[in-house]
Amino acid sequence: IVAVEKLVKRFGQFTALNDVNLTVAAGEKIVLCGPSGSGKSTLIRCINHIERHDSGRIVVTGVELTDRMTDINSVRREVGMVFQSFNLFPHLSIVENCMLAPIKVRGLSRKEARERAMGVLRRVRIHDQADKYPGQLSGGQQQRVAIARALCMQPKVMLFDEPTSALDPEMVKEVLDTMMGLARDGMTMICVTHEMGFAREVADRVVFMDRGTIVEEADPETFFRAPRTERAKGFLQQII
Ligand code: ATP
Ligand code: MG
Repeated sequence: IVAVEKLVKRFGQFTALNDVNLTVAAGEKIVLCGPSGSGKSTLIRCINHIERHDSGRIVVTGVELTDRMTDINSVRREVGMVFQSFNLFPHLSIVENCMLAPIKVRGLSRKEARERAMGVLRRVRIHDQADKYPGQLSGGQQQRVAIARALCMQPKVMLFDEPTSALDPEMVKEVLDTMMGLARDGMTMICVTHEMGFAREVADRVVFMDRGTIVEEADPETFFRAPRTERAKGFLQQII
């Protein structure tokens, strides 16, 4: 459902991604980890075409992402993205935050969009907050709304970039639980996270990046028990 081949991304003289290859099948859950600056966010952003790559190929739901793309939205609406910062619209209520894109991008009526939004908010168990505004919610609740908002577009893939790293510790679990629920429902997920408990429980594959390349890829059990490279060993020692 996502194929990345020989991906290169430069920022000026600096090569942020160098020859990255990654294939993700429908329903697969990938945890992407690695030291700061290793290129995790850049890779996620290239897959969502927020960043343009310099060479190589990225194919998402059968469509190749290129500079010449006329309809990037047709790809982007299949891809849900959740960032470290929740980026909710502060002047819209929770349910309106979830209705906006389905109305604007998918052409739903307000009624349809509201029904869908309430269904998804119920799924992340936050429907009782639907008429509040983002500023009235805790960080963990806001992040669950951000996940719900992405789900309202009925994406085929969900990308997460450190969704819990800006949260107070007591709120991390509720967001991870929501993500685990999504995983159980069969969502295809690529998650940048240092939550190794989540990785152990949910990931089909752990992908370890360093200095712009994928250094190691393994099932979580193998990766944590017996990392092959010194770089992965050093990384695990630091975070566990
Ligand atoms: P972190 O764990 O800190 O989030 P990361 O693995 O997500 O790190 P990236 O944000 O992908 O790392 O950055 C990879 C490298 O590319 C870094 O050296 C960063 O400084 C550089 N970089 C990222 N975005 C830009 C940009 N817009 N302009 C210039 N350099 C950038
Ligand atoms: Mg990052």
